[in-house]
Amino acid sequence: MFAENFYTDEAGIPQVRGARILLIDDEPRLSESVRQLFALKGYVGQLCTSGSEAIAVLKQERFDLVLLDLMLPDMTGHEVLDQIIAMGIATPVIVVSGDSTIDAAITALRKGVYNFIRKPYEPEELLKTAENAIYKHRLEQANRVIQGKLEHSRNIYKYLVDSSPDLIYTLDEEGLFNFVNQRFEDVLGFTNDELIGKHYTTIVHEEDIERAKYIFNERRMDNRSRQNVEFRMKCKNDIVREGYKSFDSSFVTIVLKARGLYGKPELADSFQGSYGVARDISDRKKTEEAINYQACHDPLTDLPNRLLFKDRLGLAINQSERHGEQFAVMFVDLDRFKWVNDTLGHMQVDELLQLVAARLKNCLRKGDTLARMGGDEFTLLLPDVKSKEDAVSTANKILKSLVGSFQLGQREVFISASIGVSLYPEHGDNSDMLIKAADIAMYHVKWEGKNGYMFYNQEMNAVFHRKLSMESDLRRALDGSQFILHYQPQIDLNSQSIIGMEVLIRWIHPDLGLVSPLEFIPLAEETGLITKITDWVFPEACRQFSLWHKMGFDKLRMSVNFSPQDIEREDFVAKIDQGLREHGLSNDVLDVEITESTLMRDLENSISKLRDLRAAGTTVAVDDFGTGYSSLGYLKSFPINTIKIDKSFIHDIHGSAADDAPLVSAIVAIAKGFKLNVIAEGVETAEHLSVLAALGCTIMQGFLFSRPLNAQQATEALQNQHKLFQLAELPLKS
Ligand code: C2E
Ligand code: MG
Ligand code: MG
Repeated sequence: MFAENFYTDEAGIPQVRGARILLIDDEPRLSESVRQLFALKGYVGQLCTSGSEAIAVLKQERFDLVLLDLMLPDMTGHEVLDQIIAMGIATPVIVVSGDSTIDAAITALRKGVYNFIRKPYEPEELLKTAENAIYKHRLEQANRVIQGKLEHSRNIYKYLVDSSPDLIYTLDEEGLFNFVNQRFEDVLGFTNDELIGKHYTTIVHEEDIERAKYIFNERRMDNRSRQNVEFRMKCKNDIVREGYKSFDSSFVTIVLKARGLYGKPELADSFQGSYGVARDISDRKKTEEAINYQACHDPLTDLPNRLLFKDRLGLAINQSERHGEQFAVMFVDLDRFKWVNDTLGHMQVDELLQLVAARLKNCLRKGDTLARMGGDEFTLLLPDVKSKEDAVSTANKILKSLVGSFQLGQREVFISASIGVSLYPEHGDNSDMLIKAADIAMYHVKWEGKNGYMFYNQEMNAVFHRKLSMESDLRRALDGSQFILHYQPQIDLNSQSIIGMEVLIRWIHPDLGLVSPLEFIPLAEETGLITKITDWVFPEACRQFSLWHKMGFDKLRMSVNFSPQDIEREDFVAKIDQGLREHGLSNDVLDVEITESTLMRDLENSISKLRDLRAAGTTVAVDDFGTGYSSLGYLKSFPINTIKIDKSFIHDIHGSAADDAPLVSAIVAIAKGFKLNVIAEGVETAEHLSVLAALGCTIMQGFLFSRPLNAQQATEALQNQHKLFQLAELPLKS
């Protein structure tokens, strides 16, 4: 467009030299003189003597100016004008005409001509007018180009700003938005119209206004301006943000850079507001939060993990120190979890832990923290413990919450827990000490029979360390060289003879001397070493009984204690058969002593094994009867022959009449009702004996007759049975 004619100087001022002029006049002479006139000024003129010729030339070429006479041979100048308009030619037109009517002038001017010069005219006037027209036209052209460029760059800028991944805005000096890009609507849901003219606080999360204030009010322009301030912006209520379901979708987290805007950057008083670029970092935040959450929560139960627990414990210590308060830490460990782990599938164990976690959660009060330390270990922080009783009541609540069975698919599982409790500041002033103390107390609960709670005390420490070293000593003792068996006679009052012996293990520890099974059997059960111990006990017992049978005591029965883990072994029945067979003993020699808890643990599995044993002639006795689960239902349905009344009931007998022992009489009555044999354990006094005899319980075991004896003493006892009865001051049978 006009490129060949159009040029501006360095300052952007259009130049008129070299401009091309089309002269349309039917008088060639006149036209020629005008052309020469213009040529003197450096313009280039071209002549046309008719309207049609002029239109043809205009179609082909571009001019900077048209000088048009209204009186042409073939048409009027007005018609030529119409054509020029119709062709969309923007070249300015000066009408030069002899027609002096005002009408002609007005009509021409209406059609957009630049000026109307009446013939005759002063050459100077024509030149001046022409120069002005060309200059103005060129100026307009220059403006149009600049306008076009501006428009173009504005479009690019708008495109860039709107499609930027960042929120971009400008604020006026009062803090009101006067520009926001499209991203505001995409991210926050507010349209342009909803934000323009509003104060920036409209979109800042209430809690973050203080922080946001500084950056929105930023007046500095240079590098000192605030960079990357993080805060939350509010979203319009109804906006649904993809992928933000688990997080609060009512705000987004952004980082903002802002700087001041000045009319004249060098003049501080030309402050016009500020502009800023904010980036939505919610996704990053979300990932960070998820990572943080994962780092301090147990994925299985969603409970806080060890890390978070210790953190909260630290806070509780600070708080309590300041206010002189006390609080409690509990260590909750599930009982017989090893069995659970060995018996149940992976998925079921996980499910059980989740169910346990849910029950434990129900025991919490506001402000308590329950955490999973790993495996079956949970810890509890009870910040609001006014007295020990508060902790006691929570511990009881927990124990009670676990009483009901857990349904895992088709399977019903019973589980209990041992709870150790430590108190701040009594048992430690840092988190490690408090957790450790609770842990030690928890172990004591395990050793004392599980399913209970205990508060830590100083003495536990020594015991704990003794147990710890005992565990490694026990492993070393497993080759059997430090174990011996003792045998305690079981007496039948009717026949006044020893009808059986209970096999009881003894550990002769190289340093500690004789260690009671009461101390190391629970430890062996806890550590899983028990089956290895049984693997030594049972063949050794068989060997001894086989000797006695060969000596002629061939009716002597052998009572052996088995732990739940023994019975859960795949090869439990096979091992028994093998031990008996290798020593030439028949199955009916053996009385298997189990505890009530064995029956409760893995019902199906243990019952079927016990059935197999019974089918072969072996009898099954429930040891320590009455101390475990109180349910009597299993007596009927389980393969049991005998119950052994626990010695604690016998020791409660004070008197010699049946009425003096209501519990024992009740147990004997139950046994009779279920057609079970009864053995009384821990018979120590003549009173015990007479009560039991009066109740018709004639088989007994106890110090009154004999303590557990080593093999040689037991052999002597068998050979001199009458002595036992003499010692017991029983009238010998005639
Ligand atoms: P238990 O099976 O109930 O054995 C009876 C316990 O009562 C024995 O304790 C015995 O010495 C004691 N006792 C017997 N008569 C009296 C009495 O008149 N008064 C008192 N106060 N106590 C009496 P011991 O030998 O210390 O064994 C303790 C427990 O250790 C046993 O209780 C049994 O549960 C376990 N145990 C012993 N040997 C074995 C074994 O080889 N395997 C397994 N799994 N457990 C065993
Ligand atoms: Mg026993
Ligand atoms: Mg017992």
